[in-house]
Amino acid sequence: MGEIKPQPGIMEIELYQGGKSAVEGVTNVVKLSSNENPFGPSPAAQEAVRRVLHEMHRYPVTDHAALRHAIAEVHGLDARRIICGVGSDEIIHFLCQAYAGPGDEVIHTEHGFGMYKISARAAGATPVEVPEKERVTDIDAILAAATERTRLVFLANPNNPTGTMIGLAEIERLAEELPDGAILVLDGAYAEFVEGYDGGAALVETRGDVVMTRTFSKLYGLGGMRVGWGYGPQQIIDVLNRIRGPFNLSAPALAAAEASIRDSEFVEKCRSENARLRTWLAEALMEHGVPSDTSCANFILARFADAEEAEACDLYLQKQGLIVRRVGTYKLPAALRISIGDEASCRRVAHAVGLFKAGAR
Ligand SMILES: *Cc1c(COP(=O)(O)O)cnc(C)c1O
Repeated sequence: MGEIKPQPGIMEIELYQGGKSAVEGVTNVVKLSSNENPFGPSPAAQEAVRRVLHEMHRYPVTDHAALRHAIAEVHGLDARRIICGVGSDEIIHFLCQAYAGPGDEVIHTEHGFGMYKISARAAGATPVEVPEKERVTDIDAILAAATERTRLVFLANPNNPTGTMIGLAEIERLAEELPDGAILVLDGAYAEFVEGYDGGAALVETRGDVVMTRTFSKLYGLGGMRVGWGYGPQQIIDVLNRIRGPFNLSAPALAAAEASIRDSEFVEKCRSENARLRTWLAEALMEHGVPSDTSCANFILARFADAEEAEACDLYLQKQGLIVRRVGTYKLPAALRISIGDEASCRRVAHAVGLFKAGAR
């Protein structure tokens, strides 16, 4: 029998590594490695899931109408142009599958989210990495890299794992100057953490080539439920719906997401607590000689002298039961990404970093 081979590109995929959640031999760990909500899911979401459990034998709805209308209402959008996916990862995947193939290029930034490369390769397309300017998206570098083969440009704003963001005027210029035939994808996984930022929704309204993706995994605390969504021109959303599995989202996931997005009190509390503790943690780390860029998300990218120091600090934190994220695979070997936890966790991690900087190992 001959060798059975997968499609081109598949074997070049490097497996995605999620944040660690345990340390051998250490109990009472605090997980600050996956940008999860330290306050857990909204109580309304938990109640909504309980209410649908007795219906587990039923297939879920295929059109996600209730959730799409809830999203549309809260954000002032057109429900017909919303598509829901198994995390926003699935929307990213749909976009690559539908619009990029062998010979096509998919642009992502230097320290950009790992899923862009994976989904591009899974579709047989070529990921193209564009440099950032001191950990900030560089529009001119993206424009310089764009060609007639560019089909998708993925831009997380705020970005992960840097936490930095660029202004809407710059994004508008990027959309305006990209070659025809390229779709600009604004990944708004952390948009909820930015007061007054629409994630680029208004830009979607005025153009035919911009798609916004959003998630329930971060601010809404539903990472385990796997719900994300996309907003775009009708033509693109119709294309994505053709390749979407009819029952991609489970009934509990849909119920949890709908309840969460309507729980404005919970949303407001999480947003303001995150902002308060983020400032506190950044200042505390700075006092210990660990700088970071101003973060617009629910984590801080802490910078160390070099890769060796970052690794040593990570190992020390692990011994203290504190799990943060190494970001060497994001080309940031001298940094550690620390998710904003609750107040006690922030204090614990700041204290431990201080001890490490004072020589503890
Ligand atoms: C966490 C994250 C996502 C969202 O992932 P889900 O699949 O919705 O859980 C998307 N983009 C970025 C940049 C992220 O950090």
